[in-house]
Amino acid sequence: METVIPIPATPTLPVHGSTAVFPVRRIYCVGRNYAEHVREMGGDPDREPPFFFGKPQDTVVPGGGAIAYPPATSNLHYEVELVVALSKGGQDIPVAEALGCVYGYAVGIDLTRRDLQARSKEKGQPWDTAKGFDQSAPVSPITPVSLGGHPESAAIWLSVNGTEKQRGNLAQMTWRVPEVIAHISRFVSLAPGDLIFTGTPSGVGPIIPGDRVRCGIDGLGELEIVLV
Ligand code: MN
Repeated sequence: METVIPIPATPTLPVHGSTAVFPVRRIYCVGRNYAEHVREMGGDPDREPPFFFGKPQDTVVPGGGAIAYPPATSNLHYEVELVVALSKGGQDIPVAEALGCVYGYAVGIDLTRRDLQARSKEKGQPWDTAKGFDQSAPVSPITPVSLGGHPESAAIWLSVNGTEKQRGNLAQMTWRVPEVIAHISRFVSLAPGDLIFTGTPSGVGPIIPGDRVRCGIDGLGELEIVLV
């Protein structure tokens, strides 16, 4: 096929135990999925249910590494999250069938321009500039369900320059993984290659150039980024 411009590359993630890679289609993210994080952001978890938003496909940074401090912000935040990688999709996926769509799991950081997000909230504007910027979605290699099962109550943590900043447990999620998949599939067709960031526990905060961020989910994997 002759194209008028080069065909954009599809980002891929490495897979533990395989030489084959996972091609990324869309990236969805759940907001306000841990009650303690809702409270630290000034919200009421009993009145503000989780919701979802997206990041562009090419914001993914496979395996982490060096990330350029983004322009147009002076308050870049980390948010460690369990990432679900789908091998099947559909619309209106029942909760009871949702885990059958999961290929595997990874650790990701939902990098956020917190100052721009606050401005968007104030003005009722979209979150794209706060959430969907270049390199805003570093993701670890994927651990397939065939190797790691479905993690349900593992510790999820993040440290900056060796100091622990976030520590929670996947069991604290308001919407569990099957509910997240079922909910999103009521609004869009999910498909193989989709990634879903499932929300962050409390302890989010700023990072600056030179900071080394390490995070992980026990029994699943770890991810490291360095801001440059
Ligand atoms: Mn997030």
